[in-house]
Amino acid sequence: MKKENFKPIDSIIPPPPIHWVGDGFRVHNFFPGPQGLETRISPFFLLDYNSKHLFLPSEKQRGVGVHPHRGFETVTIAYHGMVAHNDSTGNSGVIGEGDVQWMTAGSGILHKEYHEKNFSKNGGIFQMVQLWVNLPAKYKMTSPKYQPILKSEMGNYKIPNNGGNVFVIAGNYLNVKGPASTFSPINLYNVVLKSGFSVDLSFPENYNTGFLIIDGEVNINETEVVKENSYVLFKNSGNDIKISAIKDCTVLVMNGEPINEPLAYYGPFLMNTKEELQQAFEDYQNGLFGYLDD
Ligand code: MN
Repeated sequence: MKKENFKPIDSIIPPPPIHWVGDGFRVHNFFPGPQGLETRISPFFLLDYNSKHLFLPSEKQRGVGVHPHRGFETVTIAYHGMVAHNDSTGNSGVIGEGDVQWMTAGSGILHKEYHEKNFSKNGGIFQMVQLWVNLPAKYKMTSPKYQPILKSEMGNYKIPNNGGNVFVIAGNYLNVKGPASTFSPINLYNVVLKSGFSVDLSFPENYNTGFLIIDGEVNINETEVVKENSYVLFKNSGNDIKISAIKDCTVLVMNGEPINEPLAYYGPFLMNTKEELQQAFEDYQNGLFGYLDD
């Protein structure tokens, strides 16, 4: 790997002040935001990150009640704790520690997201990512679907000498493929490295790239030290990135081909035009997103 071809860091973003989504998700929202980061990280649109937080035991399940989505996908990655999910197409499940749920809202879905019952009862450390992946205009009204992805089903590239793993959720790393099917080219990895080990990644120049440091501390491209809970945005030049673990670490790698289409966004809907947003509200109010018990 040649230094001349390193993908330069654009910015390192410390975790923004927390806010609550329902009463179950204590999140740092990295994008979208006033700096317009969402246009720099397309096809990804929203990143809510519940950094490690101790929830005390509770008889009531914390979370978010029934709400709609249209025009994109929600990808939920559980690092600590478990999330129970139900939606209006009849799908339900529990996202366990290390697992991922890839939900395509497409033309419209209602769902609810709560801490899993026993996790609520016992309390514990909770750490989770919710990433919204935009859909290209021609797929915005695709049928809703749901891909539960267990950790054991992810692509697993083993770093030599027990240095760690690149777990491939979507896309591929050195011919190891991820199980998620996507509507535009995406590479989504959990890179787990032991202290002292490093890994080299390579992506097309025009693809957008960002890292969230989930755990530990890393050095990027042999120059910048980045701490836990920070986000790293890369420039669209060069191809290669070197991650070196200063401490044992987990890094969520988000990379994909930008969707160069207009964004019209309000609350739970992500469309291309204001008219489509209006239509989404009308269709939701007219019950076209189905029904789900509270
Ligand atoms: Mn939701």
